[in-house]
Amino acid sequence: MKILVINSGSSSLKYQLIDTTEGPLAKGIIEKIGSEDAVFTLEVGKKHFREVMPIGNHNRAVEIALTFLLDQSYGIITCLNEIEAIGHRVVHGGESFRRAVLIDDLVLAKIDEYSLLAPLHNPANVAGIRACAKVMPNVPQVAVFDTAFHQSLPPKAYLYGLPYDYYEKYKIRRYGFHGTSHQYVSQKAAEFLQQPLETLKIISCHLGNGASIAAINSGRVVDTSMGFTPLEGLMMGTRSGSFDPAVVLYLMKHEHLTAPEMDYILNKKSGLLGVSGISNDFRDIEEAIKTGDQRAILAKDMYVHIVRKTIGSYAAVLNGLDVLIFTAGLGENGITVRAEICAEMDYLGIAIDLDKNNCRAQLADISASKATVKTLIIPTDEEAAIAKETEKLVQATK
Ligand code: ADP
Repeated sequence: MKILVINSGSSSLKYQLIDTTEGPLAKGIIEKIGSEDAVFTLEVGKKHFREVMPIGNHNRAVEIALTFLLDQSYGIITCLNEIEAIGHRVVHGGESFRRAVLIDDLVLAKIDEYSLLAPLHNPANVAGIRACAKVMPNVPQVAVFDTAFHQSLPPKAYLYGLPYDYYEKYKIRRYGFHGTSHQYVSQKAAEFLQQPLETLKIISCHLGNGASIAAINSGRVVDTSMGFTPLEGLMMGTRSGSFDPAVVLYLMKHEHLTAPEMDYILNKKSGLLGVSGISNDFRDIEEAIKTGDQRAILAKDMYVHIVRKTIGSYAAVLNGLDVLIFTAGLGENGITVRAEICAEMDYLGIAIDLDKNNCRAQLADISASKATVKTLIIPTDEEAAIAKETEKLVQATK
């Protein structure tokens, strides 16, 4: 089945056409939507295409992506009917969506309602869904939620120690994000180890620019580090992660900061970038460490510390551990960071083989022979997971 996967942001639209038996046929990104100089890119095999053009809105972005997918010189598809379904990454599904769903008017209205909880993301997702419905009105659309996999969290893990009224009134609670990735890599781990997912205690570390960890018992999330928003938990590229919330009040008072200014500092100016003063990208931090830069060393040490601390606490939540997974940009490529995270974790049965760990972006078992926990690198593929979910739902309705 050929499925168009759409990941729509406020001013960008990532698209990928996936044949669920053959794999990706084409992918690209449209950036700066709403401007005269929007950037369109398309990748087909080793061929790359880029053009700057005016793209006023998401409707136009979808139309342009489809025009290129149909362009005979690329030989991707010959007619729009070949696209049998569209799968959308939707960031927030609130408490309503425990799994992916076929989109109808009611579902779309709910996604729109959750814009209150994800003001930067859900309105863009809704725009992407509407744009596709306009251009391909008869093609089924499926929403795959970042939050859905985490809906198995028990109340003791998802509630905050705040007055309960705020949960009832505003639905303030931990939702968790990167769910599609955590679900995908945990299933892949079970397949790779040839063991039923239901028998495994897994800690999945999704370490990208945004980063989160999930504790998964028998295929169900029992705790996760991101919370009401993707700001909570680990220190990230530009996000602070968790710290004493009283600091926010203190800084707003003493630096005379407005709420949007504080939000900007926490989300865009903190994390690895804020501590190192160099970059949000771990590759730059590693380069600076080679020159002896003390703040870069500190940023790396803090990052490793919080990941180790989270792994330890999740092993406690799980009452043991069978599998530790590293995924996403840094998890898949960060050889030294993985080694530092896994050092002196033998109390948990975690030990990695440094030779096996010397690899990037490939599925690998990097456990040492003495380890009782399997440590795996599993490249994530959220688009493939979205395509698979979409295919499953669309086939079920046939
Ligand atoms: P996003 O959250 O934007 O999807 P990715 O999963 O692509 O992020 O991860 C991006 C991050 O991965 C980069 O910011 C960088 O810190 C890290 N990264 C990617 N490649 C490498 C590498 N070869 N070595 C170390 N870190 C890497």
